[in-house]
Amino acid sequence: MRKLLIAGNWKMNNGPEETTQLLTGLKKQLEGQRLSVEVLVCPTFISLAAAHEILRDQSTIQLGAQNMHFLDSGAYTGEISGVMLKESGCRYVILGHSERRQYFGETDEGVNTKALKALRVGLRPIICVGETLDERKGAQHFDVVRRQIKGAFSDLPDTQLNEVVVAYEPVWAIGTGETATPGQAQEMHKFIRDELTSLYSAEKAGNIRILYGGSMKPDNADELLNQPDVDGGLIGGASLKAQSFASIISAAEAIAQK
Ligand code: PEP
Repeated sequence: MRKLLIAGNWKMNNGPEETTQLLTGLKKQLEGQRLSVEVLVCPTFISLAAAHEILRDQSTIQLGAQNMHFLDSGAYTGEISGVMLKESGCRYVILGHSERRQYFGETDEGVNTKALKALRVGLRPIICVGETLDERKGAQHFDVVRRQIKGAFSDLPDTQLNEVVVAYEPVWAIGTGETATPGQAQEMHKFIRDELTSLYSAEKAGNIRILYGGSMKPDNADELLNQPDVDGGLIGGASLKAQSFASIISAAEAIAQK
């Protein structure tokens, strides 16, 4: 049984002070609830310490980062390593987000190197895949996602697959207000699971969580999360308000309780 994961990707928003405020608000929203879904927030690097501090007294909300370097330390100005993230309280790390692929030249090979390292240092990688609008219009979306999955999973130890999360994020739906229809999301999630089945086995693929990302909000979360191969959400804009993020968590929780 795959546990639903609701993850907030804050991108380049919220310094330490705003982080403290937002997480204080989120903790209040979730107070007294015994959740059976997992909740994760991924603040900026500079705000991880503030987040770690405010989350110290609870175990409902987990902490993650938005990127990492593939080495432990060295002369790589401006970079942060996985071991440092682990030391800062992170459990997860987002890898290969489309904004990193688009603006910072991340490649499938680079994502793979980072994913291997993340697993080695005890972080759970959230591997992002997804096609652009042109690729979907050109009916290339399955080929693109197949290439991204194959690239990212190359040599990943099958003993640690349970630790790996995939996020399907159609680039045309990120931050645009456009959302994949539940049918489009399910179709691609099933495709990804089939690809993972051919790389590993149906049993292993059946344990890997596949999140949907792309303008998930309180009013569309329920129908997306109800799809059989949608195991949670990676949420940008709507994770920046405690109330809207908490509403998505409630929608997931209602599904988990069914
Ligand atoms: C994201 O960037 O991971 C994302 C899904 O953003 P949004 O929810 O704002 O579309």
